[in-house]
Amino acid sequence: MEFTVSKFREFLNKRKIMAAKCKKCGVINLPPRPICKNCRSSDLEWIELKGKGKLVTFSIVHVPPTPLIAEGHGREKPYAFGVVELEKGARITARLVGFDLKKPEKIQIGMDVEAEFLEKNGKTILTFKPAS
Ligand SMILES: [Zn+2]
Repeated sequence: MEFTVSKFREFLNKRKIMAAKCKKCGVINLPPRPICKNCRSSDLEWIELKGKGKLVTFSIVHVPPTPLIAEGHGREKPYAFGVVELEKGARITARLVGFDLKKPEKIQIGMDVEAEFLEKNGKTILTFKPAS
């Protein structure tokens, strides 16, 4: 199976977070890519990541892209996205849900988050929420 973002999305539809682990250097390529970002090897294997991680950084967006304006986001209803570090150093950028964006001081770098799969227009979107 090819190590592509479209395969990654197919796995997401099954609520799996799959990454391409390099057999040579052990780096986890997320989103998956056919060539290791670290050592350029193409000797990769699929691994499933648990949907638990830590928030590395985040941004609150008041001027959202068009699809999110359609969902009602905007200056009065901002949304957030962040970088989440999953196990073994794999990092992914994703939307954050379930945070009180009116109190951004409560969003802490390093806090535990967990995956939340949202269904939108027949697609599964990976987001993260505060860990329960
Ligand atoms: Zn590698």
